[in-house]
Amino acid sequence: MALTITDECINCDVCEPECPNSAISQGDEIYEIDPGKCTECVGHYDEPQCQQVCPVDCINVSETHVESKDQLMAKFIKLTSKA
Ligand code: SF4
Ligand code: SF4
Repeated sequence: MALTITDECINCDVCEPECPNSAISQGDEIYEIDPGKCTECVGHYDEPQCQQVCPVDCINVSETHVESKDQLMAKFIKLTSKA
């Protein structure tokens, strides 16, 4: 599953540099996660790094982007082979 940031985000910028896929960026109002790039950190780390560092716990699983671990790994391979 890709993760998503809720409107509780305080725009602290702590998560953005932690993302190994550069999936996080500052949006118009709050920070946003590109579901095409978020692998839930599969392939890089055991735990989603952005969730680990967010001080207000406003990063949740996106219900509109449900993916299996295999799909996330396939996304990781696609992303890294392009790099
Ligand atoms: S879960 Fe990992 S890949 Fe997804 S946005 Fe957070 S840090 Fe980036
Ligand atoms: S760490 Fe949390 S509060 Fe800070 S910018 Fe990221 S999502 Fe927003």
